[in-house]
Amino acid sequence: MSDGTETALSSLVQEGSFFIDGEWVAPLDGATLDVEDPGRAVTIGRIGAASPADVDRAVAAARRAFDEGRWTGLSGQDRSVLIWRLSDLIEQNVEELARLEALDVGMPVTQARAMIGEAVKMFRYYAGWADKVYGESVEIGPSAMRFQGFSRKEPIGVVGLITSWNAPLVGLGMKLPAALAAGCTAVLKPSEEASLTTLAIGRLAVEAGIPAGVVNVVTGVGTVTGAALTEHPAVDMISFTGSVPVGKTIARAATGNLKKVTLELGGKSPMIVLADADLEAAIPALAVGMFWNNGQICTAGTRLFVHDSIAEDVAQGVAEAGRAMKIGYGFDEGVELGALVSKRQLDRVESYVAAGREEGARVISGGARLEGDGYYYPPTVLTDVTPDMRVVKEEIFGPVLGVMPFSSVDDAVRVANDTEFGLASSVWSRDINNALTVARQLRAGRVNINIHRAGGVQLPIGGYKQSGWGRECGPEGLEEYLETKSVVTRMWN
Ligand code: NAD
Repeated sequence: MSDGTETALSSLVQEGSFFIDGEWVAPLDGATLDVEDPGRAVTIGRIGAASPADVDRAVAAARRAFDEGRWTGLSGQDRSVLIWRLSDLIEQNVEELARLEALDVGMPVTQARAMIGEAVKMFRYYAGWADKVYGESVEIGPSAMRFQGFSRKEPIGVVGLITSWNAPLVGLGMKLPAALAAGCTAVLKPSEEASLTTLAIGRLAVEAGIPAGVVNVVTGVGTVTGAALTEHPAVDMISFTGSVPVGKTIARAATGNLKKVTLELGGKSPMIVLADADLEAAIPALAVGMFWNNGQICTAGTRLFVHDSIAEDVAQGVAEAGRAMKIGYGFDEGVELGALVSKRQLDRVESYVAAGREEGARVISGGARLEGDGYYYPPTVLTDVTPDMRVVKEEIFGPVLGVMPFSSVDDAVRVANDTEFGLASSVWSRDINNALTVARQLRAGRVNINIHRAGGVQLPIGGYKQSGWGRECGPEGLEEYLETKSVVTRMWN
């Protein structure tokens, strides 16, 4: 099937350029990076590689747009209409955006389409918030001297939105519309592995009528472009999605002007299957919870705890469900799992599985890269794993599951919580009381029951422990982009 790359990369993106102050601009030093289709291991285009001077231009544009009130000067209702219009444009361009996302990330185009549908919902949800940003009022003071006080919610200012490659538009959908609803202006820095759809959003924002300079996009490597944005003194906040080590670097780099930082970081999420779980329903859902998007999802259920009495059946069942998933090029019919995003990611997965084998893990399915062009690795299930193994402790960000039997639920919860991460989790049981008891005990920002990874934009998501700072989605996600000001006036009688 043709993906259309024979002609031009896309009508939505100007190759090798950034989107700053409402127009495409070339890198000052002309530097670019190749864009690779990981499904075929071929170069399909290029993006600009922003130097600190390019980042400076983008930040200056966002700063001007904020300080001149181009965005905050509009009423909440007007901003709401414009954010909604942007959501309409994303929806109208879903085919082209899905094609770009699938080419860039390696995911099936059907999945990319669904993810863009999710992003549209996120823009619409926050469009609805733009005219509902207000504080509270209170009368204060002793009887003899009264004060009337109220709080105002104000946008934090210029925000840098740095995102990962695994789900570019969903990741952006958790940040940009909330920032816009709050009244912020933004500089977007997508991952160098998958920047195309984020670039397109810059252009679509202007087409939607959002004033120039409100949404700017720079691309480039993290250690140069991302670092320049993080350190920039005219940026008021960084909202980051990515790995724990880079999150820590960002937190340190932000100290120059003490800009606010929110961090959506990695995970090693447990799925805990109690003895009374409905296995017929659970097994395929556990496989999806782990292997969807090749496990390249921050919330992937990578540690499977199963009651002794059913452990073998569940491990074999999930392995079988993984084997049945059709792997292939994202534009081929019926494909459920595409390529990993890059050779680097493929090598990483391979080296983790090798380390697992060396430490004594047994591979009951998958366990070897697929031959041929592109970076394909099959769903892999490891048994005989222990909590101290690297494959169980560290985030692999690939299709590798470790299965651990347990005899007591308390032990399972204790081991599940014994991790530096705390992003997501799930518990599986026919007894809602048992499930809710475990839900209360798990130290994670999200617990799902009888499914892994469910939740809409209405509910916040974020990490306990080293999985992050702050929350995205829901009213909490909006609040991150707001400052609160108190105004108090003396009353004369
Ligand atoms: P990464 O940390 O390597 O990169 C993320 C982003 O940070 C990229 O845009 C990158 O260019 C940039 N970056 C890298 N070094 C930087 C620096 N020194 N200063 C500023 N920016 C820098 O992560 P990744 O490989 O793109 O994504 C995978 C990671 O993201 C996994 O750990 C995954 O769990 C996490 N993730 C978390 C969530 C969440 O919501 N919690 C969602 C998706 C992915």
